[in-house]
Amino acid sequence: MSQALTPAQYRRLRITRGVLLTCIVGSLLTLAITIWLFVAAGTSSTWRAVSTAVFVEFAASAAVLGAFAKCPACSGRLGSEAGDLLPRRCPRCGVRLAEPTNAETGESLR
Ligand SMILES: [Zn+2]
Repeated sequence: MSQALTPAQYRRLRITRGVLLTCIVGSLLTLAITIWLFVAAGTSSTWRAVSTAVFVEFAASAAVLGAFAKCPACSGRLGSEAGDLLPRRCPRCGVRLAEPTNAETGESLR
């Protein structure tokens, strides 16, 4: 039996993945800015502190979201998988987390 999430559950999962991705991209961007501020001469310590704080904020959010992402079907902890933000299948209930293609559902998800 192949389990699948409902369209509403996919939407929730997509939002989680989107927020997670935003935090990761944001932390990488602010990390680059922070490094540049520390390397570049003549930058004020205030801006260094601000960019470090923003980076820590993004990185902490990404870490927390990744660690506490929950399966929409069984509410089990998903954890993150190397190479992907979220695993393809729930490790607890086995529900498929990757969105089905349009050919599989017969309708457009967008
Ligand atoms: Zn599950």
